[in-house]
Order: sequence, then structure tokens, then C-alpha cells
Amino acid sequence: MGRYTGSVCKQCRRERTKLYLKGERCDTDRCSMERRGYPPGEHGRRRVRESDYLIQIREKQKARRVYGVMERQFRTYYQRALQEKGITGENLLRLLESRLDNTLYRAGLAASRKQARQLVSHGHVMVNEKKVDIPSCQVKEGDVIGIASRSRELGVFKEAAQGPQREQVPWLQVDRKKMAATVVESPGGYNPDVEIRDEMIVELYSR
Ligand code: SF4
Repeated sequence: MGRYTGSVCKQCRRERTKLYLKGERCDTDRCSMERRGYPPGEHGRRRVRESDYLIQIREKQKARRVYGVMERQFRTYYQRALQEKGITGENLLRLLESRLDNTLYRAGLAASRKQARQLVSHGHVMVNEKKVDIPSCQVKEGDVIGIASRSRELGVFKEAAQGPQREQVPWLQVDRKKMAATVVESPGGYNPDVEIRDEMIVELYSR
């Protein structure tokens, strides 16, 4: 199955929560969730009896949509989380948070994860001074994420460096002037913006 190409705002409405997929617009009153915070479609406003299974599916879809990960890749993350020590759900969210595209977004060097993915794929991003063009690359403690010198003049990075500062996550130290961020600790096993009930995802895959 290919990547979703429809309206991203509909994804938020489907999950009945803001997933912050559109950058700046998400924090304005132009956000669709502010005006139509109910699921899309003819029966969107109808009350649905939510079974455990439905809740589990929705939590999994929410996580997939937030991080822009396809089903098969998501399952691979789950398998990895299962093999790691600790709580599987937290491991899963930690793996997703550690993606390079997410790190660029968290550092405020991209307006959205989708944009971050493009910027990485197009070779504008460096990890420890080496070009890395794989958005799913996992960052680790001590890594320094930067922008290739030839790319720093791009409007997208200038705007990111000069625009309003995004709330910082404790695992990243950001130097906006240098357009760089250092991973100072492993990301926590949670998403600070969107509540994702990771235990529901684990229950779904354990069926
Ligand atoms: Fe659209 Fe962003 Fe609002 Fe979601 S949070 S509905 S992506 S504007």
C-alpha cells in the first residue's frame, strides 16, 4: 500500500485529536480540529460504541500517523521494541522519537515531520558532520544533527532558525544560530505533544 496522499487534517479528525501534521497552521485557529473536531464523512458525528479492539486500532493508527510510518515498518518497530529490555510500549515510542526526521522536527529545524523527511531525503541534513539521507536513521546520545553548509541559506532553514521557538524536549540541546542540535540523552518513551496510549498498541499486537 502506498503512502497516504489525502488531506492530513482528516487524519487528525479521524483520531479526534491534533496530530500536528501541518506545521505552523496547527497552532492557529485555521486548524481543522478547531472548527470541525469530529471524524470526516457522512457519519462522522454519529456516536460509535468503542470496543477495546477499536481503541487499540485507533491508538496504533494515531502513532503511525504522527510519525508518518507505514504499517509494515511500524510492525518492525514493534518487533524491535519487544526484543529490547524494558517496557515494550515505551521502547516503541522511544524508537519512533529517535528517528532522524523526528529529531529534526523536535529541534525546530523543520516545520513538520513530513517536511523533515523531505529535507533529510534530499541530503540537507548531517549527523556528526556526515550527510545522512535516511529519515528513519536512529539518533543516539552524543549525536550532533546539523545542516549541510550549502543548504543553510535555504529559506526553510532560515525561517526555522528565526521563527518562533518550538517547545524544547529535554533530550535535545538546540543551537538555533548554528542550526544544530545535540542529542544529550535518549528520548523518553512518550510523545510530549500527542497522548499515545502505547499499552493499547502492545495489546493489539499481542492478540
Ligand atoms: Fe490540520 Fe494540524 Fe490541525 Fe491536524 S493539528 S487538523 S494537521 S492544522
